[in-house]
Amino acid sequence: MQTDSALLSVRELVVRYRVNGSRRELLTAVNGVSFDIHAGSIFGLVGESGSGKTSLAHSIMQLTLPTSGEVQFHGKNLAHMKGSDLKKMRRNIQLAFQDPLASLSPRRSIQQSLIEPLDHFRIDAPEQRRARACRALETVGLEADVLLRFPHELSGGQRQRVALARALVTEPELIIADESVSSMDVSVQARIIELILNLRQQLGIAFLFIAHDLAVIQQLADHVGVMYLGKMIEIAPADRLFRQAAHPYTRALLEAVPVPDPAHGKPVALQGEVPSALTPPAGCVFHTRCPRVEDRCRVLDPLSNQINESGEKRTSHHVKCHLWNP
Ligand code: SF4
Repeated sequence: MQTDSALLSVRELVVRYRVNGSRRELLTAVNGVSFDIHAGSIFGLVGESGSGKTSLAHSIMQLTLPTSGEVQFHGKNLAHMKGSDLKKMRRNIQLAFQDPLASLSPRRSIQQSLIEPLDHFRIDAPEQRRARACRALETVGLEADVLLRFPHELSGGQRQRVALARALVTEPELIIADESVSSMDVSVQARIIELILNLRQQLGIAFLFIAHDLAVIQQLADHVGVMYLGKMIEIAPADRLFRQAAHPYTRALLEAVPVPDPAHGKPVALQGEVPSALTPPAGCVFHTRCPRVEDRCRVLDPLSNQINESGEKRTSHHVKCHLWNP
């Protein structure tokens, strides 16, 4: 799946945590995940809570070190970067945190929060940094007077815009937006989605956009990856995935998307709970909830298959399910 032009390449990434400091008890949060993000594109990552999305984002940022596998940025393994290369990478990949109220210091004004990364990366002369912070706020549709305010004085939508401005201020090539619109009402959500699409179009910024809601992903992603219990179980160009989802889990997520037409009836809720990542099911990890389960699913872990024969690497559709094994 390697492509020369990928901005970010994740290869067979595994992230394990020790449980309560134990050497024996390990929780596998991310289990052999691979995908590419290309410059100026939006990769939507979807899955229920506990699927490993945030662990994956943190390991891409090297906030959590991967247990194995690689993250490459412009073809260079992040784990091998040091000194100025590492600093440059950190400037070029920014994270917009899930909860801006928790990630922005309550004691710092918005100006201080926006200037802090500029100080850290020594971007511009100190006297020019306020102007740059102002421009970042303007880009996300906020007035300069927000600079002097504190996070608790802003609405949820404004705070999310500030979180994006803080990610933008270093002029990154990639922003990881983790559940950036999840807690918002639909109208604020729509404005943030529009903003992200504009940032991609005007500034050419690529996004890894993480959400648990496929309806949100559908509005902005070029490619979609679906995670379940640490595994990437389906990955495809967005238009193909929304037309021809192949994995029973992805189909269940799609059926759960509300449609504003009474003739469609109520969305179908997924049955059962996500199993614990500490004791994942044998065989296919989805078999305890799958409506299409067969005997082999309970013992054999399905391989990832490319199911569109003509797909180039950028347009290929991969699925991990025995129903699609040749
Ligand atoms: Fe369902 Fe079996 Fe496919 Fe898993 S491998 S998704 S249990 S049909």
